[in-house]
Amino acid sequence: MKRGIAVNKIEQFADMVRRSERIVFFGGAGVSTESGIKDYRSPDGIYQTVKAYDVSPETILSREFFNAHPEVFYRFHYEYFLNVTAAENRTHKVLAELERQGKLSAVITQNIDGLHQAAGSEHVIELHGTVSLHYCTQCRELMDTADVKALRGAVPHCAECGGIVRPDVVLYGEPLPQAAINEALDEIAAADMLIVGGTSLVVYPAAGLLRYFGGDRMVIINRDETPFDTQASLVFHDSIGDVMERMMQAL
Ligand SMILES: [Zn+2]
Repeated sequence: MKRGIAVNKIEQFADMVRRSERIVFFGGAGVSTESGIKDYRSPDGIYQTVKAYDVSPETILSREFFNAHPEVFYRFHYEYFLNVTAAENRTHKVLAELERQGKLSAVITQNIDGLHQAAGSEHVIELHGTVSLHYCTQCRELMDTADVKALRGAVPHCAECGGIVRPDVVLYGEPLPQAAINEALDEIAAADMLIVGGTSLVVYPAAGLLRYFGGDRMVIINRDETPFDTQASLVFHDSIGDVMERMMQAL
């Protein structure tokens, strides 16, 4: 039987949201898993693609590998990112609603799936880029993602110059976009409440970003413990969708 979330903790969470006017949400992969987005390491399928090349998903998603084997990269990219149908979930919807109410100023995400925007969020800072944009590695001309998808995993080439087209995501071995990092820092520094969800907070740059928060209302929602749990006002080791939905009902 599923363990319930303490009602008084939900009440405390809702009360913090009620008192806040500039909430920032910082989220990771755990936000999207409730939409059915697969972890790279999910056993059903991913290694069927990867096995033949004897390399890990992390290797395929690296800059070096993209340059050397774009045809393998695109087979993988198509199967795991382009040819998926995932819908926004309760967490995405609650965050979009808080923004509409004027309480939330930004969503900072490590995800590349575009589901926050699909749910209606307008100010989304994507630290790792997005699979909804593709551009030419030579002349930077954009290519419509629907056209990339229509190639069903074949390598797309630029209509202008013939260069290889790439997704606008941060590959392993590439730096995070500095403009997004700076914007995230500014938002966190200006926030009066920080909600952190679906991230273990052990991977760069999460830990560094959180240090910029100067407020006294930090809520962490993650299945597992994080190194920041002791610094948070409130910690939930529960389904983020459950917590966000019940908080919204209590608001
Ligand atoms: Zn081009």
